[in-house]
Amino acid sequence: TGPHGPWRRLELRAETGSTNADVAEAARAGEPEGLVVVAERQTAGRGRRGRVWQSPPRAGIATSVLLRPGEADPERGWSPVAPAAYGWLPLLAGVAVAEAVALLAELEAGLKWPNDLLIGGAKCAGVLAEAVPGSGPTQPPAIVVGIGLNVTLRADELPENPTGLPATSLLLAGATATDRDPLLRALLRALADWYARWRSAGGDAVACGLRDAYLAVCATVGREVRVLLPDGAEFRGAATGVDADGQLVVRGADGERRLAAGDVLHLRFR
Ligand code: ATP
Repeated sequence: TGPHGPWRRLELRAETGSTNADVAEAARAGEPEGLVVVAERQTAGRGRRGRVWQSPPRAGIATSVLLRPGEADPERGWSPVAPAAYGWLPLLAGVAVAEAVALLAELEAGLKWPNDLLIGGAKCAGVLAEAVPGSGPTQPPAIVVGIGLNVTLRADELPENPTGLPATSLLLAGATATDRDPLLRALLRALADWYARWRSAGGDAVACGLRDAYLAVCATVGREVRVLLPDGAEFRGAATGVDADGQLVVRGADGERRLAAGDVLHLRFR
């Protein structure tokens, strides 16, 4: 990545349970920002809320990175970002995946808020951001961002999702290139570039152009959606935008609601 990027150390693993779990463990042990873990084979990949992310061996990219947005980085001239803005990180990672896929595979992808990359209406990648609490009450949390990208999965290897969206892979979607190394490089580069821009702007996603970049690839804004909340409630309306904190704005019959990614169980298009 560029000299301004955050990556400091890359760990390649032949096999692991979950790259997010590995990076979270390193974060708890005090690892500084910039660790990247890449696994050839992930046996217990995770999705949001304990859901499973399937990663057939060598058919996809499974990677997680360690970010510490709450810590100053004098070397790069970055001051700490307040936790209220951390909601942008999964969206930022989604933009990076969409850019890498457009650049290398020459496929147009859309982002289903907050964290899924869709190609032709099917899910090709997922992003999972998890917070690791700081060791003391004054220490900000570290953020682990994991990305699972389906690269060469064949139709019979795709996971089934009877209630949600179907899955696809870059290969099945007609990618011009499906070599994983250059894809991973492009992905880490785009992620580093966006993270550096966002950090340099103090976490202001509007000022650094991240919100515009997100909206340009967002497949949710402008659609009618049905949002299922953890308490069993459901909210229907039109997704009208993404606010300065990365929350989805949904206008329903009873007014407008702002949804944080963590508050949403499922989001469906209607
Ligand atoms: P929903 O789409 O139901 O709102 P979600 O997209 O937020 O949920 P995630 O945590 O992002 O859920 O992803 C986990 C879900 O993705 C799983 O429940 C499964 O249905 C589906 N899935 C698992 N592995 C893959 C994969 N390799 N490719 C595409 N979809 C997958």
